[in-house]
Amino acid sequence: MTEFTQRYQQLKAQIRQFEIQYHRQQNSVSLLAVSKSHSSELILALYQESQQDFAESYLQESLDKISALSDKDITWHYIGALQTNKIRDIAHHFDWVQTVSRLKEAQLLSEHRSITQSPLNICIQVKLDDNPKKTGIPLAQVPDLVNSILDLPKLNLRGLMCLPPFTEEFDMQRKYFSLMRTLFEKIKPGLSIDTLSMGMTHDFEAAIAEGSTMVRIGTGLFGQRQKHG
Ligand SMILES: *Cc1c(COP(=O)(O)O)cnc(C)c1O
Repeated sequence: MTEFTQRYQQLKAQIRQFEIQYHRQQNSVSLLAVSKSHSSELILALYQESQQDFAESYLQESLDKISALSDKDITWHYIGALQTNKIRDIAHHFDWVQTVSRLKEAQLLSEHRSITQSPLNICIQVKLDDNPKKTGIPLAQVPDLVNSILDLPKLNLRGLMCLPPFTEEFDMQRKYFSLMRTLFEKIKPGLSIDTLSMGMTHDFEAAIAEGSTMVRIGTGLFGQRQKHG
C-alpha cells in the first residue's frame, strides 16, 4: 500500500468512527473524493481501492480526466461554478451537479441532458450567510426552487449541498450544519431525496454529527492543491 492509499483507508475508517461516535447508521455517510487539480493517475489509484465517486470544479480539466478514465465505472460530480456557456458540457459529461442555485441553471441543465442519458442528479446549493459574493440560494427560497426543479424532466433532485462560512470552531460548524439538517427534514416529506452533501476536510466531523450523508474531501485526501489557473 502506498502512503496515498493508506491515507484514503484511514480517512474511510475515520468516517466510520464518526458514524459510531455520533450515533449515525453504519455506512450512512459516503465519501466524495474531490479530485480537482489532481491527476487522473491519482484518481485511478483510488478507484483501484474501490472509490467510485469523484468531484471536479474546473470544466476543461475535468473533461480531460473523464475522457482519460472513460472505461472506468466512475460517478462524476460537478461542484464548480455553473457559467451558462459551460452548462451543456456539464450536463453531458457529469452524473451529478451539486451547485444548482438558480432555476435558470436547472432549466438549462435539463434541456441539455440528452434523451438517451439517465436524468442528471442534482443538489441545490444553499447559502448560509448573506454574503452577496457567495453562491447558493438563501434558505428561505429553497422550497420554491425544489418545487420548480421537480417539474424538469431530465433532472433527478437528490438533495442539498452547502459550503458554510469558514470557521475552525466546532460548535459554530455544527450550528451551520444543523440549519441544513432542519431544512432537509422540512422539505423531505413526499420527496425521494436522500443526499445532504456537507463537510469538507476541516469540518467533516461536525457535518457527520449533524446528519451529513456525503462528505466532500479534497485536501485531506490528496494533499494541498496547486492554485488553479
Ligand atoms: C474544493 C472543494 C471541496 C474540498 O475541499 P477540501 O477543503 O480540500 O476538502 C469541497 N466542496 C467544494 C464545493 C469544493 O469546491
